[in-house]
Amino acid sequence: MRNGPSRLDVFPAFHKVAGRRVLVVGGGEEAAAKVRLVGESSAEILVVAEEVEISLTEAIAATGARLAARAFEADDLEGAVLVFAATGEEEQDRAVVEAARARGVPANAVDRPDLCDFYTPALVNRAPLAIAITTTGAAPIIARRLRARLEAMLPGDYGSFIAFADGLRARVREALGNGEDRRRFWASFFDSTAAALFFSGDRRRAAAEAERLIEKASRPAEGFVALVGAGPGAEDLLTLRAQRHLQEADIVFYDALVPQAVVSQGRRDAERVAVGKRKGCHSKSQDEINRLLVAAAREGKKVVRLKAGDPMVFGRAGEELAALRAAGIAHEVVPGVTAGLAAAADLQLPLTLRGTASSLVFTTGHDMKGETLPDWARLAAGGLTLSVYMGRSVAAGVAGRLVEAGLAADTPVAVVENASRADKRMFVGTLADLPALEHRSDITGPTLVVIGEAVAAASLAEAEPLHVSEKTVSERLAA
Ligand code: SAH
Repeated sequence: MRNGPSRLDVFPAFHKVAGRRVLVVGGGEEAAAKVRLVGESSAEILVVAEEVEISLTEAIAATGARLAARAFEADDLEGAVLVFAATGEEEQDRAVVEAARARGVPANAVDRPDLCDFYTPALVNRAPLAIAITTTGAAPIIARRLRARLEAMLPGDYGSFIAFADGLRARVREALGNGEDRRRFWASFFDSTAAALFFSGDRRRAAAEAERLIEKASRPAEGFVALVGAGPGAEDLLTLRAQRHLQEADIVFYDALVPQAVVSQGRRDAERVAVGKRKGCHSKSQDEINRLLVAAAREGKKVVRLKAGDPMVFGRAGEELAALRAAGIAHEVVPGVTAGLAAAADLQLPLTLRGTASSLVFTTGHDMKGETLPDWARLAAGGLTLSVYMGRSVAAGVAGRLVEAGLAADTPVAVVENASRADKRMFVGTLADLPALEHRSDITGPTLVVIGEAVAAASLAEAEPLHVSEKTVSERLAA
């Protein structure tokens, strides 16, 4: 046994009848019904009947059928594609059917299924749309009820709407080619504003709207990538421009350091992808991230690459920008408040200070392989404020290099953990205290180290000592 519906004893197909003869033999109401049905098509109807009832006369007039008022002759079948035997007399019907079969013309004998080569369906006509329903003679009333429901479902001008769509086909193919773009266009067209305008009766505006939609679909969706600075963590340190990009984004790739409160300012149905990058646990390699950005933009998406602080400060923006340029993808950089500036704000520490500090260096405790940067000597010159990113785990090395390079061991140092955030902590000490930072198990957030005489000008009332005994630390952790 086959699964699913049983097999049909009929096979639906649609005969081409335009300009071709369809023969109806008979003069009564049955013949009239067939003339009306076939009259839904552009067939050339020939009615052959010796006597014609009034309903048939009307049907002939309404459909433009031709009448031969005489007995049936086999030659009436000349050029016919279909024949209806509707004489009401079995013998006559049989003669018509046999003559038709002899010439290979499919025949239907009204109410004589045994004589039929084909059945007539219940028809819903929305030319060029045709819906034909049959129950293979089992329950014609069901076919009629279904037809009534379909009639109600389809607006009367559905056919002209289809013709309208058909009229756009060449233009759509010319503008969109044969591929996916064209498929997408049609998939949305039937629910488009153009369709709504058409059904509202405004065909001129429907045509103009259709043209607008075709043009829009033919412009390649322009992918765009914004490298956006998310700021140091406080949501309200996000720039308005960053917020705008987030609200327009189709997809947001964000780093581990970016707080959810910022990520969630993105458009609600935007896709959000964590690309990790926290020290020691890179969830995606930089190459992978570059590829993801390019691929998403090539799909025509508005991409936001959300980076902690400022994207251009220790953010690997250089590699991402190079990848975007190489791929020819439109892009923009949106600056953000970098951690060094957020830390200075928290500490109320003027990074430049007349007579004390006239230059400012943003540096990192790591080179790309995670080792301490070798050349600190250059940086250790006086009159300089040093902001050290990613300095916690290499604090001792940094301090050692600076002292080696001639910086006084009592140079003031401040550290901010979670700068700008509600849970921020600030620490102060000297260069000699800095190595302690590596061992402070109570400091787990991102930390920014500031070194230089300007630190002495900071408001450090809230700051804790940088160097405390391990006992103090464990007591604090226990508390
Ligand atoms: N592009 C970022 C820096 C990324 S490197 C920016 O401009 O801020 C990551 C380092 O930034 C961390 O190791 C830490 O040193 C620093 N950092 C980021 N956010 C911080 C924050 N809220 N508080 C303190 N330091 C932070």
